[in-house]
Amino acid sequence: MKFSAVVVAAGSGQRAGAGAPKQWRELAGKPVARWSVEAFLAAGADEVVVVIPEGDQDLAERAFSGLSRWQPVAGGATRSQSVQAGLRALSASTDQIVMIHDAARPLVGPSHIENLLSAMNSADAALPAMPVADTLKHLSSASDAVTTVDRSNLWRAQTPQAFRLGAIRKAYAAWPTDSAPTDDAAVIEAAGGVVRLIDGDPRLLKLTYPEDFAMVELMTGGARRIAVGQGFDAHRFGPGSSVWLCGVEIPHSRSLIGHSDADAGLHALTDAILGAIGAGDIGDHFPPSDPQWRGAPSRLFLEHARSLVGDRSGQILNVDVTLICERPKVKPHRERMRTTLAEILQLPIDRVSVKATTTEAMGFTGREEGLAAQAICSIDLPA
Ligand code: MG
Repeated sequence: MKFSAVVVAAGSGQRAGAGAPKQWRELAGKPVARWSVEAFLAAGADEVVVVIPEGDQDLAERAFSGLSRWQPVAGGATRSQSVQAGLRALSASTDQIVMIHDAARPLVGPSHIENLLSAMNSADAALPAMPVADTLKHLSSASDAVTTVDRSNLWRAQTPQAFRLGAIRKAYAAWPTDSAPTDDAAVIEAAGGVVRLIDGDPRLLKLTYPEDFAMVELMTGGARRIAVGQGFDAHRFGPGSSVWLCGVEIPHSRSLIGHSDADAGLHALTDAILGAIGAGDIGDHFPPSDPQWRGAPSRLFLEHARSLVGDRSGQILNVDVTLICERPKVKPHRERMRTTLAEILQLPIDRVSVKATTTEAMGFTGREEGLAAQAICSIDLPA
């Protein structure tokens, strides 16, 4: 049976954590959105329209390079506007079946598409849905009373969802402009059409939170690996009244001298993260010769390293920093340093360690010419 597809990849994916928007991130070796487009093309789609954020044309060209029968369309401010932009761009006849699909559900397969096509023989819309396994509770906002909801006829809607092109365009045109449907089948329901459920699939999980990437990757059979990186840094003391260490300003009789704020703790940690993902060192990303980094807060460097981890669909597991100096005394500031690092790296506090030691008055740190820091981190990455 002939069909076309609209793949909605226009979201900004705020909840999926730092890094590139989730549709362009790598999942087991290819961009998230490419999984769905390949699946529809392999199942025989005549035409696949991919709705992308305005300005992401280059990212789309790269993500779908080598594929045919697809075209990008800029999305709107809401999901339903994006869907309608995709529907307008299709050149198929009005009685042809169109599947509307969220790019964030990358594991759509041939059986889902076949089952939807056969369900469309006796329906105006068809979608995969999963029974609700957990007991549902209702919390009254007025009284705080908790009651149990009967879940026996409740289903969780997934995508792709199948329609006839003319009917879904018409139903969207009739949908009230002051409310947004939470899926496309709701638009056909409102127009009085017959909607059929087919068996849903846990593999159609929607990538929403950072940890979903690892779970969906496991479902693809894609292996993960743990990478470890280490970093070291030292800065010289000079005139001043405070030092920056691990993102915290500590009053001291001297300052640390450096091109940025000379936060040796953050520099060592940034290098550890860059090391774990094989992305060079801090000087490659922020050359000391570049005047824009003069006096820069070093948290910018650490935020950059964290976003590079996100781009690789990685997750930082833990970090451990050791500060080496006689003075200033680190201990009174240690918890604030941990909190600051945890906030920059978006990690729970128990995954962030800051330790301090002296060199028993030996060497350059012992003579208080400067201080040093070393760091180690572990990162969970696609193999
Ligand atoms: Mg440095």
